[in-house]
Amino acid sequence: MKVLFLGTGARDWNPTRDYDNPEYRRNASVLIDDELLIDPGPCVPEALNKFNVDVKKIRYVINTHAHSDHFDEATLDFLTSNGAEFIKLSSGEVKKIGKYDIFPLKGNHKIPVNHFLISDSKSCIFYGLDSAWLMYDEVAEIIKHSPIDFAVLDGTIGFIEGDYRIFEHSSLNMVIMMKSTLEKYIKEFCISHMAKTLHTGHNELSAEMSKYGIEVAFDGLVKEF
Ligand SMILES: [Zn+2]
Ligand SMILES: [Zn+2]
Repeated sequence: MKVLFLGTGARDWNPTRDYDNPEYRRNASVLIDDELLIDPGPCVPEALNKFNVDVKKIRYVINTHAHSDHFDEATLDFLTSNGAEFIKLSSGEVKKIGKYDIFPLKGNHKIPVNHFLISDSKSCIFYGLDSAWLMYDEVAEIIKHSPIDFAVLDGTIGFIEGDYRIFEHSSLNMVIMMKSTLEKYIKEFCISHMAKTLHTGHNELSAEMSKYGIEVAFDGLVKEF
């Protein structure tokens, strides 16, 4: 499976659209194998252009939740008018989409959110943004029984303490604790959905997180499994 990060930022990045800034993060979205897109957010059309993606190859669009950084009607229209199909998924129900088995799992967020466990015949990835921790029965128990090659966790909040967003997003201390609990079941960990106002620059953040064996995603990062 090839995972291309089209965007790795939280909602507070979008108004800037500061594309010349090398540290810029678009709203979080990923494209798998050029054909399965998670989250048709407002930055996706520009990102597809920037990363030389042929929009006509995108066959399926799925969505984690309705927040405006993850779902934009104009983007969805753009994708479906180029041939993609928008597939609605309900948490707890595995669905076969093309060559993928997709298992939506419930997250802990202000509005209903799905994480996705996506597997093909070779590998399995977990995409779990916009959640404070991970739900125990709904997610952690499933992970224990599904060896995962690559997990993308919510890294919205930096090391800052006292931020009210911990009740619907995760801080880096929370991510580090989740990794030590889950690393028996997950080979590689990564964070995405970093808030603009709660983080240092990418290089400093990457150096810090590498001490814990956690990669920091950036726009344009490609991972293969
Ligand atoms: Zn978000
Ligand atoms: Zn959200």
